[in-house]
Formats: sequence, C-alpha cells, structure tokens
Amino acid sequence: VSRFEGITMAPPDPILGVSEAFKADTHGNKLNLGVGAYRTEELQPYVLDVVKKVETLMLERGDNKEYLPIEGLAAFNKATAELLFGADNPVIKQQRVATIQGLSGTGSLRLAAALIERYFPGAKVLISSPTWGNHKNIFNDARVPWSEYRYYDPKTVGLAFEGMMSDIKAAPEGSFVLLHGCAHNPTGIDPTPEQWEKIADVIQEKNHIPFFDVAYQGFASGSLDADAASVRLFAARGLELLVAQSYSKNLGLYAERIGAINVVCSSTDSATRVKSQLKRLARPMYSNPPVHGARIVANIVGDPALFNEWEAEMEMMAGRIKNVRQKLYDSLCAKDKSGKDWSFILKQIGMFSFTGLSKVQSDNMTDKWHVYMTKDGRISLAGLSLAKCEYLADAIIDSFH
Ligand code: PMP
Repeated sequence: VSRFEGITMAPPDPILGVSEAFKADTHGNKLNLGVGAYRTEELQPYVLDVVKKVETLMLERGDNKEYLPIEGLAAFNKATAELLFGADNPVIKQQRVATIQGLSGTGSLRLAAALIERYFPGAKVLISSPTWGNHKNIFNDARVPWSEYRYYDPKTVGLAFEGMMSDIKAAPEGSFVLLHGCAHNPTGIDPTPEQWEKIADVIQEKNHIPFFDVAYQGFASGSLDADAASVRLFAARGLELLVAQSYSKNLGLYAERIGAINVVCSSTDSATRVKSQLKRLARPMYSNPPVHGARIVANIVGDPALFNEWEAEMEMMAGRIKNVRQKLYDSLCAKDKSGKDWSFILKQIGMFSFTGLSKVQSDNMTDKWHVYMTKDGRISLAGLSLAKCEYLADAIIDSFH
C-alpha cells in the first residue's frame, strides 16, 4: 500500500484547469477564453519581434549561464524600477526602493507575502472582491490573513466605490491594501484618477500600506507611463508601498517567469535593510532567479531603438484587444433583441471582460458552445479574434436567456 494513500486528489486550478479541458475538446468551433494570454487574429501564441531580435543578439554575444546573485540581474532591477516609477522619480533618485527580481508576478507577490508574514505578524491583507484567483492561494500558503473589500457592483457593472472606501476604512489600522495598478483582473474596471486620490486619502488616514499588483503595465492603455499613474500617485504622496511587477503580458514572456518586487521605503537605509531581508527570504525558496527573461527586459529597456519597437508592439496588442472588444459589443447589440445594455463591455479595459454570466450560464457557454472561460463569468478578449466575435455573441445571448 502506498505511503501516499492519505493524499487526496487536488481539484484542478480554476484558471489553468480551463486550458486542460479546452485541449481535450475536439469540437471545431471551440474557443479558449480562460487564461489571459495574448493571441494573434489567427488565435496563435505571439512572440514579440523585439524579443526575438534581442534573443538573437544575446546568442551572438555568447552570454554565459552563470548563477545570478540572489537579488537577480542588476541591470534588470534598475530598468524595472525605472519603468515603474519613472527614472526621475525622487524615490529612485534618493535610492529609497528595494527591488529584487522575482519569479514573475506570482513569485514576486509570494515573496512580498513572506516579508509580511515575517515582519508584520498578524497584519491583514485586504483584497478586492472579486480578484485574480491566485491572490487568495498566495496569501493562504504564506499564512498571511486576508479579507475582502467590495470592488464590483453587479447592479451598475461598475466600481462599488463607496463600499470599497468604507471597507478600507473599517479595516484594522496598518493593514496592507492590495490594489491592481491597472486593468483590474477579472473585472476590467479601474478607479478614475479622482477615485485613486480618494483611495490614497483613506489609506493614508488609516496608516495602511498600499500593495500594488502591476501585471499589465502598458497593456491596458498601450502606454507604460499612463498605466503606472496609480502607483506614481501613491509614491508622490511620500507613502511607503509595495509593488509586484510582471512581464508575462506586456512582453509576452509568460514562461520566462520574469518580474520584480519593489518596496518603497521612507529612507535609503530602510530600503537597504528591506532588500537584505528579501534576499534572505528568496535564498531558501529558490536560491536565485533565472537569467534569460531578465536579460531580455534589461536589453530592451536599455536601448532606445528597441524600447520604441517594444512600445509599438504593445500598442498593437492593446489595439487588437480594443478592436475585438468593439466588434463583440457591436455583434451583441445587433443580435440581441432583449434590450439589455451591453455598454459595460466598452467601459472595461485590459485583457478581460467581466460579462456578468453566472456559474450556470458559464457552464452553458462551455457545455453547449465549447467556449472555455472561468466560472466567475470572465472572458479573455486577448484569446478572441474578430472572426469569432459573432459566434461568441450568439453563445453569450443564448446563455443569458
Ligand atoms: N496578478 C494578476 C492580477 C494577474 O492577472 C496575473 C497574471 N494572470 C499575475 C498577477 C501574475 O502572472 P505571472 O505570474 O505570470 O506574472
């Protein structure tokens, strides 16, 4: 008898499990709108031209495969913090940011969670309701208590701003408030600049610590600076804050696992100490991070011509998603005779649309129409083509009624 008899079967992951089910489906019209990964109009994975170019350069140079330091590639850490805050930001100039390379967004969030667990025992992390499914797993596994603040209002299919404010206000002083820097996942609903100011007000009032998850910089609007505005607004107030970054989406480096955790401190001295502890947490977990993705990012950001190419490709990707969003909206309006207001689709931004389809309705999308999506009603528009919009509109209308 197996010594592992006591280990029960784990449930499939609610997001990555969708891709597994999709692969097993043999229907000709099947569509995978589960995972947030960019596809071309032909629904193929896309490697950015600028990434291919830099990889060729790296090969020609014969870069070696020596271990990186625990904190990662120095040129990457510099580039990533500057991309986030802007090179002229006082937090950079005064060397108040502790940045270390992480295993993409997830690994960087996990490292921050370990820092919270170790140095802020008992402190709670407030997460939006709903949020990216993995946030709860990350804090559970790090043994960091969390609770939710209201974010989505199903009645308006918009931001539950008053609820959000009062929940943040009601949380114990000194809590960490997890905020999506832009392109909120799964709702696609972001606060307005005025609302960000008010959110910063209550966070400041309550002595909370803002904790940004930035997984879509440049991918929401097409502009790296515009998408970092929320983080910069908080930094400009002199607040201490945490920011996890990911290059999965904006550089299409999903499998390279490249990202960073940044901790903005009120002094250079604190930043130096925080960085030393982040390294200490990373060492027994994975020792040191992978080099390939870090070199790609550092080379692109460090070269003005390549950087411009990257921006152009990001605009192209963000633009394709916007076109698909518009076409889906047009198809729904043209086909639906119920008078339902579909304008929420155009108001949402980023990779996703939060349709408002219930779990049962989402099941109908998959079982009857072979459209794979998460059961919270989220669809990834990055996995949709213009050619498939009408089919998807038929599926959505059928599932709603
Ligand atoms: N945070 C959010 C909100 C996300 O949507 C994602 C990607 N789905 C991530 C973090 C992290 O992804 P990765 O680990 O691939 O960077």
